[in-house]
Amino acid sequence: MGRSANNTAIVRGRFAPSPSGPLHFGSLVAALGSFLSARSQGGEWLLRIDDVDPPREVPGAAAGILRTLEDYHLLWDGPVLYQSQRFDAYEAALARLGSAGHSYPCGCTRREISAVSPNHIYPGTCRNGLPPGRQARALRVYCGAHELCFDDRLQGRQCRRLGREVGDFIVRRADGFYAYHLATALDDAFQQVSEIVRGADLLDATFPQLYLQRLLDLPQPAYLHLPVAVTAEGKKLSKQTRAPAIDTFPPGEALGRALTFLGHPPPVELHGAPPTELLDWAIAHWRMDRLPPRPVIPVAE
Ligand code: GLU
Repeated sequence: MGRSANNTAIVRGRFAPSPSGPLHFGSLVAALGSFLSARSQGGEWLLRIDDVDPPREVPGAAAGILRTLEDYHLLWDGPVLYQSQRFDAYEAALARLGSAGHSYPCGCTRREISAVSPNHIYPGTCRNGLPPGRQARALRVYCGAHELCFDDRLQGRQCRRLGREVGDFIVRRADGFYAYHLATALDDAFQQVSEIVRGADLLDATFPQLYLQRLLDLPQPAYLHLPVAVTAEGKKLSKQTRAPAIDTFPPGEALGRALTFLGHPPPVELHGAPPTELLDWAIAHWRMDRLPPRPVIPVAE
């Protein structure tokens, strides 16, 4: 955690969108929740563009996200961190994991894994060495039988048996790109993030990230997983479910809807107010115990 000039710990939150399309309602909720949590504690709020997955990147999406956040007055501190500029750090961490014996090459294809493991948990085929005639594709981290737990500030205590419920996870993908868990664990530490507020769809992702923090001696931030907006059929609102990009709504209206979703409906006199007024009100009134403590909430589309 960072320190302020008078040596008190600084709360530092972050929003880390992937540039795979415009912001939609779900990403606005994550941006807003992390922003309000940090700002209501007098903390900093950082922005990171998770451009670690070039095949899924949409040209212009990163610039569009920045513009939308500015239109909403969700203004971040300091320069934006782009994961595409951090490949040296990821490579160094992979070397460290490898030389400490924490990772191993895996030759399995996704199809081979799902044929034997319907829940996609890696069955351990290459754990003890590549089977004869197989080429290394990805790099995986060994996960032992032990249980890993953390206290989510909203969802309560969460535990998983690493080997059985998470499985040896990928740190370098078969296409050569760095895996999301590796980049996230390293960058949250690099940016000295003290609290991670994001959607509950990423709750399970916390376990590989916690484990990497341990293996790489990184500090563990606090976690709060916000409810995720889903369709009536229970599908996450996303580009895949054709959730409308939020920049098709007036910012004040979309912010009002996101605040209501997060248990902080703005008072009537603020209906139609500009983003700055809504955000000032929300920073002053933000209370964790008003957040709905459910992982998913259906919303009308
Ligand atoms: N980049 C990830 C996403 O857009 C989120 C990363 C995170 O918050 O840890 O889904």
